[in-house]
Amino acid sequence: MNALVDPYGRNVSYLRVSVTDRCNYRCVYCMSENMTFLPKNDLLTLEELERICRAFIQRGVNKLRLTGGEPLVRRDVMTLIRNLGKHLKTGDLKELTLTTNGSLLAKYASELIDCGVRRVNVSLDSLKEDKFASVTRWGKLSDVLEGLDVARQVGLEIKINAVALRGFNENEFDQMIAWCGEQDFDLTFIETMPMGEIDQDRMDQYLPLNVVRESLEKSWTLDEIGYKSGGPARYVSVRETGKKIGFITPLSHNFCEDCNRVRLTCTGKLYMCLGQDDWADLKTPLRQDPTDKTIMDAIDEAIGRKPKGHDFIIDRTQTNPAVDRHMSVTGG
Ligand code: SAM
Ligand code: SF4
Repeated sequence: MNALVDPYGRNVSYLRVSVTDRCNYRCVYCMSENMTFLPKNDLLTLEELERICRAFIQRGVNKLRLTGGEPLVRRDVMTLIRNLGKHLKTGDLKELTLTTNGSLLAKYASELIDCGVRRVNVSLDSLKEDKFASVTRWGKLSDVLEGLDVARQVGLEIKINAVALRGFNENEFDQMIAWCGEQDFDLTFIETMPMGEIDQDRMDQYLPLNVVRESLEKSWTLDEIGYKSGGPARYVSVRETGKKIGFITPLSHNFCEDCNRVRLTCTGKLYMCLGQDDWADLKTPLRQDPTDKTIMDAIDEAIGRKPKGHDFIIDRTQTNPAVDRHMSVTGG
């Protein structure tokens, strides 16, 4: 079957799937404390999510990332992961990964390995117990550290994601780099993106990563490397630790020209761009037609509408989020 190529000649080979919008944490930049989640009835079943993933795999998508919300809080999610893992064995899928807050990794890491998952991204914004508790609102640092330990022991490769928050964790970055070096983790810094209403002013949180990088260069030797993930991160290698640092800069640098991904929500909406509101309904075609013809047509039509890029702005004149939905709807 023909590959998915968008109107700008970009090959879509990467699907990110938000398997739930729910989470056991309430990170301050991601959610408000009193979130209204989608009614459970609106959700695609795990079988339906799998069917859509399978259709994408048939069209040449070779990398899948499960995210959320917190993917590991969805009931029976391991069944989905196990079934998707079968495509790794056939070689149709090159990689199956997860982005998780790590709180349930101690429980699931070994099963993840068994299903063929080899790498996970774990979000961790502070190594200080009290700060971690305040940024996640409901989280406990020791759960995540335990999860990371187990994950490493069973052989999962780990990348830490840290959102750079002005006045909150900026004085911890040197410590985090050293800790990641010791633990053998890569690290990615992320700029806050204006997605969904939260309880705080995003302008107060926003810390441009070029400022972060300048300050890191006082303590660390950062070597430019050609490594690219086909995504928004730009990577350097830290000479002192030998580990990579990525910078995800949606605001201060536009990275859309080599975008290879689309995002599916747990209700079957396909977002062709993280920073735009346009989406395609895959749930109706999925339920209308037990063969895959209609869903394939819907996917083709959607990819034909993939926009050139986004234009996130955070400044004092723009107080509303650039897109209304929270990151937990489309996944990070
Ligand atoms: N719950 C999982 C986790 O925290 O890793 C997966 C979903 S979470 C939405 C995915 C990533 O998005 C996390 O690394 C999180 O820090 C990041 N994120 C959430 N809201 C964000 C925002 N407004 N701007 C930038 N990154 C955000
Ligand atoms: Fe949950 Fe992840 Fe959002 Fe934090 S960033 S509230 S862990 S979905």
